[in-house]
Amino acid sequence: MDSIDAVRVPVSARTSAGSWLRCALWGHVVDNEAFRSGRRACLRCGLRFLQDEDGSLVRIGHTLSCFFRHHTYERAGVRDGHTEYACVRCGHPLLFRADADPYSASSRFEKRVRYRCGLFGHRVHVVTSRAGGVEYACGCGHSFIQRPAGESRVTHPLKCFFLAHWVRFVERRGRHSEYACRTCGHPFLFTGQGTGAGAREVGVGREVC
Ligand SMILES: [Zn+2]
Ligand SMILES: [Zn+2]
Ligand SMILES: [Zn+2]
Ligand SMILES: [Zn+2]
Repeated sequence: MDSIDAVRVPVSARTSAGSWLRCALWGHVVDNEAFRSGRRACLRCGLRFLQDEDGSLVRIGHTLSCFFRHHTYERAGVRDGHTEYACVRCGHPLLFRADADPYSASSRFEKRVRYRCGLFGHRVHVVTSRAGGVEYACGCGHSFIQRPAGESRVTHPLKCFFLAHWVRFVERRGRHSEYACRTCGHPFLFTGQGTGAGAREVGVGREVC
């Protein structure tokens, strides 16, 4: 098994014991703008991650600027009767029915989180079945994948709220690689290229939840 040191790469991010500790506590830092260069590496500790497309788990932290201010979305594509967008920072997707997409005229826009959904749950409709489960979307645009059939409301588990998301690769779609939380099915769309090979142990330590 590769060691953590074997998968570290020199990046401009300052690596230190403090940054490694913060990543161990809060999860690694993602940024789609930085990943556009082609290399996916944690913006805090420099660990090269989100490389494997074989089901390995990596823990990514919440992007607080997106949560407290707004996401910035760009169009990712159209599929299953829905238009899909991805945040240029945290990779959060948005999925709207194509005939009810309030952003259909926008190629890039800002959108705040709908806190009501975060508190009381997302009222969801079925998008499609794929990746071993059902994909749902809420009217706010939030989507979930690999969920059981028959759900009408999806809530964010406290475990993910406090411990962030453990994600693994789902599929490549267009210019994005889709990853999803194994606990809640929250998807993320990341730009850049995975190598399809490399470290199997990409987290700081093994999974903790
Ligand atoms: Zn990190
Ligand atoms: Zn975001
Ligand atoms: Zn919602
Ligand atoms: Zn989660």
